[in-house]
Amino acid sequence: MNTETDPVAPRYITHIGRLALPQPFSGSLWSEPVKIMKDVWLEIKDGQILRIGPEGQPVPPDENDSEAFNADGMMVTPGLIDAHTHPIFVDSRQAEFVRRCRGETYQQIAADGGGIITSIRGVRAADQEKLSGLILERLDGFLNFGVTSIEAKSGYGLSFEDELKSLRALQKSAEDHPVEVSPTLLAAHVVPPEFQDNPDGYVDLICRDIIPQAATEKLAESVDVFLEDGAFSTSQAMRIFETAKKTGLACRLHADQFSLGAGARIAAEFGALTADHMDYTDEAGIDKLAENGVTVVLLPGAVFFLGMDHYAAARRMVEKGCRIALSTDFNPGSSPTQSLPLMMSLACIKMHLTPAEALWAVTMGGACALNRSDRLGTLLPGYQADVCLWDAEDIDFLPYAYGNITPEVVFKEGEVVAALLTL
Ligand SMILES: [Zn+2]
Repeated sequence: MNTETDPVAPRYITHIGRLALPQPFSGSLWSEPVKIMKDVWLEIKDGQILRIGPEGQPVPPDENDSEAFNADGMMVTPGLIDAHTHPIFVDSRQAEFVRRCRGETYQQIAADGGGIITSIRGVRAADQEKLSGLILERLDGFLNFGVTSIEAKSGYGLSFEDELKSLRALQKSAEDHPVEVSPTLLAAHVVPPEFQDNPDGYVDLICRDIIPQAATEKLAESVDVFLEDGAFSTSQAMRIFETAKKTGLACRLHADQFSLGAGARIAAEFGALTADHMDYTDEAGIDKLAENGVTVVLLPGAVFFLGMDHYAAARRMVEKGCRIALSTDFNPGSSPTQSLPLMMSLACIKMHLTPAEALWAVTMGGACALNRSDRLGTLLPGYQADVCLWDAEDIDFLPYAYGNITPEVVFKEGEVVAALLTL
């Protein structure tokens, strides 16, 4: 490949060694979630895939060198999609990590005034401009791993002003960056300190003021709730979802992360777009999620980084025909990684997904979770030309590389937005 002469917005990507085509979701998806084509070319028009050449033909018959980007035998996948991230924070939390290494649990540290509260103090003290700058750096970080679209949550402000400030900062950063962002209001992350004695008062604030204002300013596509002991109850989650639905926002849920709760039932009842974590979800819950078309967002990085060993029953979810996405849960406390290829390794090793299933979950699964499966997540004709070129022979190499891989070139809507060297 010669990036000096390859065009930045080519008509063709030629000499593709392997082209991975995640398939749109269907009842028979899991028999072959990703189709592979060998030695092909792609034609791009207006930022979308127009045509795919036949196998065994690395260049189109009418190729003109000045219009072609030569992939030089590399593997091509869609841009990766991270369906669950918390990028609006200020400082890292490595001191807390050291405490956990010494044996304290995440919940013990939170009960002792650490954990999420540390991030809340940071966001409340920062102005919107500072947050925007930090978010931009993190969007670069995602792009480095081949991620071209993300879902991103607020949730470290936890007041009317600070939640809206977080979402405005996110919106501003997304306008200035090629990574596409689906914003989520997570005011219901934890109950903030000033409402410790009156958690329902905080839920009132969320429903009466924060959700309507976020909807009015078009700052969020979804509303998320952390449903867990120590966070929000089932009835509180239901109140928040009722408000979200009235204002036309989609519902998401953090649930069953540390214990089995009512997450699957509520997600099904409210037609939630996603149910996330779901590490403790049982068979009945998996059935509900599958039957109701709720995308399960798997977050093995959080399980691993918290030193736990109870991973979601992803194999059963696939066997029962669930839509699954696989995400980093990027956040400063429980999962500071932005590497979706590393999450593919964990999903294969700890959840026994195949590399093809894991790739589907970080592409088309992510697109389902972002409610964009009509235009993102694959490279079939008509889909957006968000493309990664990898120095890899086939898709198995991505989880095998164990985080030791980044794409060589990334395209967003047909334009080169990153040309990187493998670390
Ligand atoms: Zn999360």
